Amino acid sequence: MTTTPALSVASPSGSFEAGPVELRALRDDDVRIDVKFAGICHSDIHQVREEWGTAIFPMVPGHEIAGVVAEVGDAVTRVKVGDHVGVGCMVDSCGECEFCKEGYEQHCVKGAVMTYNGTGYDGEKTKGGYAQGVVVSERFVLTIPEGLGLDVAAPLLCAGITTYSPLRRWGAAPGTKVAVIGMGGLGHMGVKIAAAMGAEVTVLSRTTDKADDSVKLGATKHLATKDGKVFEDLKGYFDIILNTVSADLPMEDYVGLLKARGVLVSVGLPPKKYEIAPGLLIGSSKVVAGSNIGGIPETQEMLDFCAKHDFGATVEVIGADEVDAAYDKVVDGKVRYRYVIDTSTISA
Ligand code: NAP
Ligand code: ZN
Repeated sequence: MTTTPALSVASPSGSFEAGPVELRALRDDDVRIDVKFAGICHSDIHQVREEWGTAIFPMVPGHEIAGVVAEVGDAVTRVKVGDHVGVGCMVDSCGECEFCKEGYEQHCVKGAVMTYNGTGYDGEKTKGGYAQGVVVSERFVLTIPEGLGLDVAAPLLCAGITTYSPLRRWGAAPGTKVAVIGMGGLGHMGVKIAAAMGAEVTVLSRTTDKADDSVKLGATKHLATKDGKVFEDLKGYFDIILNTVSADLPMEDYVGLLKARGVLVSVGLPPKKYEIAPGLLIGSSKVVAGSNIGGIPETQEMLDFCAKHDFGATVEVIGADEVDAAYDKVVDGKVRYRYVIDTSTISA
């Protein structure tokens, strides 16, 4: 057992405090990583603020982790000391069920172990990447390709894969029209990835504030949804709508924007139910779908895809003492487009 400086929070209304947390002694298949950067995902905020009702305190959040391998167990073969690596939302799964075998560890029938705010198969509570170190089984360690900076790579481990996976599954490609709802941490990655896949990309944002950025990231159009005009102008236009919004939306209006046989796939996780009249789906054989992060092989594929296309996330690097304020700014829509914590600023 060893310790590492980390940022933890003791209650939903608490502030982050720096202090040492324990890391498990290295098992044969474990990798100890010196964490350099950890992204702040809106899911961290939902979890810390107990908006999903499943918070375990004290909590060290962080599932967008990028760092350097510091130590490896005797049986580790895929990575070595000094390699640039990442860890996303999961740190274990049964490895034997049909989903694990197919590379969909997030759907493991035994239940994948989440990187933090979870309980490992050994009964220990998991701790995430707002820390200078993590210990993770090599099965869940991703290789960050050369050429991707660790700061801009960190958010790919959640925001990147969560948008890449549904865009790939539902066929974003040249000739398809993709809308991305919400230009935040996930949304801005959705724009970059869909554009790199060759799709025509439209951002549906509340306002036009981020219009210039959308176009720079690869979108053809950026439209404000505030006045509702877009729901008339673009009726029946899109093949794929990727909904990344963390709050409730008038879902029927968005279903109206789909072509016949089109798909509205949600990755945003507001706590309330959707309301969609079945007739709006049935008449034109539309699909409403969800998507949960992505499996480990697909996460590596996404990292390689981003490196090949020469982009990471668009980030603002912050220090440990800015995390509380950063949470409020994310909720207020002020981040451009992902806060990433420089973990060297966490004092022991
Ligand atoms: P984020 O950076 O806060 O972005 C969310 C975006 O949604 C905002 O930038 C904003 O875009 C829009 N938005 C926010 N409040 C809104 C409101 N009241 N009405 C309409 N639009 C609103 O959050 P994120 O980190 O991208 O995460 C987004 C959601 O995805 C969260 O619920 C998170 O838990 C979830 N998530 C899911 C998965 C998964 O596996 N499915 C993985 C990671 C995260 P505009 O300003 O452009 O309108
Ligand atoms: Zn996340």
